[in-house]
Amino acid sequence: MISTKAYAAQSATTPLLPTTIERREIGPNDIHIKIQFCGVCHSDIHQARGEWGNSMYPMVPGHEIVGTVMEIGQNITKFKVGDLAGVGCMVDSCRECEQCHEYQEQNCEKGNTQTYNGKEQVTRQLTFGGYSSQIVVDERFAMKISEKLDLASVAPLLCAGITTYSPLKYVGVKKGDKVAVLGLGGLGHMAVKIAAAMGAEVTMLSTSPSKQKDAERLGAKHFELITDPARMKSLKNSFNFIINTVSVDHDVNMILSLLKVNGIMVMVGAPPTKMPIHAFSLIGGRKSIMGSNIGGTAETQEMLDFCAEHNIVSDIELINIQDIEIAYGRMLKNDVRYRFVIDMASLA
Ligand code: NAP
Ligand code: ZN
Ligand code: ZN
Repeated sequence: MISTKAYAAQSATTPLLPTTIERREIGPNDIHIKIQFCGVCHSDIHQARGEWGNSMYPMVPGHEIVGTVMEIGQNITKFKVGDLAGVGCMVDSCRECEQCHEYQEQNCEKGNTQTYNGKEQVTRQLTFGGYSSQIVVDERFAMKISEKLDLASVAPLLCAGITTYSPLKYVGVKKGDKVAVLGLGGLGHMAVKIAAAMGAEVTMLSTSPSKQKDAERLGAKHFELITDPARMKSLKNSFNFIINTVSVDHDVNMILSLLKVNGIMVMVGAPPTKMPIHAFSLIGGRKSIMGSNIGGTAETQEMLDFCAEHNIVSDIELINIQDIEIAYGRMLKNDVRYRFVIDMASLA
C-alpha cells in the first residue's frame, strides 16, 4: 500500500481536514500519478455535504485531476514515466456491457466506479479522489494531457469540460445554432467556450449582472439576466439548445419557454431538489429535456484534444488545500471566477 496525504470530510457536517489514505500497489495495467492540481467542482460540495443522499465517509473529493506519471505497470503502452496524465470522474467500470464496449463507461449498466464516493469493482472498497498527493489508476481511465496548455487550467476540463462538451456534441451543435448557457460557473464557462468554438451563437443566461463582461470575453455574443421578466418574455422561442448548469432549484418552466420549436434543454446541473415541470412547457413546440452525465473515456480524450487544438482551458483561481472550506463557501455565494483549482504542492 502507498501511504498518501489527503483532505477528507468525515461527515456531512464537519469541515474537510488533513488525513492519510492508502493507495493500492501499482498493478500491471495501472499508472501511478503524482497529483499536481485538482479542480473544485460543485459536485464535490453536493457530495461532501451529503446533499444527494449517496455519500460515504470518509470522503476525499476531487475529480478534476492532473499530474505527472511517476511509475507505470508492466502492460502500459499509453504512458511513460514523466508524461502528464489526467483523471476525471471515473476510475473503473464493468468493461463488459454494451455501454462499456462503446467507451460510454459513464453509463455502464452495472454502474461505473466514481473517482471518489464510489466503490472499486472487485474489492468494493471506497474510492478516494484528487484532494490528495497521488493516485493509482488503470490506464483506460487516465487521459493524455497536452504539454502546450497551462496544466493547472487544464484540470477542470476533466469534469467541467467533458460534461459540457459531450451533450453539445451529442445534439450536434453546429455553426449558427443558437445555444444558451444557463449559469456562469465552472460548467457554464466551459460550455460558453466550447459552444463558441463549435460555431454556435452563444447567449449567457445568468443571475449575476457583474458577470456580463466576462461572459462576452469567454465567447458569449449576448448576455441576459433571467431575473428580468420582461427580457425573458421577449426571448421566448429563441434557442435551439439550452445547457442548464444550475446547481440549485430554479424555474425550469420559464427556462423551457425560451426554446424554439423542437428545442432541447440539457440538464447537466444537478440540484438536490425535485423540480416541477408542466406538461404544457414541453407540448407547445415539441420541446425536450435531456440529461447528460460527464462523458466516456474516448470522448474525454477527444475533448482534451479539441481543447488543445482550440487553445481552450478553464479560467481559474489557484488555491491552497488549506483554503478549501473558504472556496466552498465562496462557490455557494456564487463568488467564483470560474473554477477554483487546488495547488497540491500545498499538501506537501
Ligand atoms: P458552480 O461553479 O457553483 O456554478 C453554478 C452556477 O449556477 C452559478 O455560477 C450561477 O451562475 C448559477 N446559479 C447559482 N445560484 C442560482 C440560482 N439561485 N438561480 C439560478 N442560477 C443560479 O457549479 P458547477 O461546478 O458549474 O456545477 C453546476 C452543477 O452541475 C452542480 O449541480 C454539479 O453537481 C453539476 N454537475 C453535473 C455533472 C454531470 O455529469 N451532469 C458534472 C459536473 C457537475 P450565474 O451567476 O451566472 O447565475
Ligand atoms: Zn464534477
Ligand atoms: Zn459496463
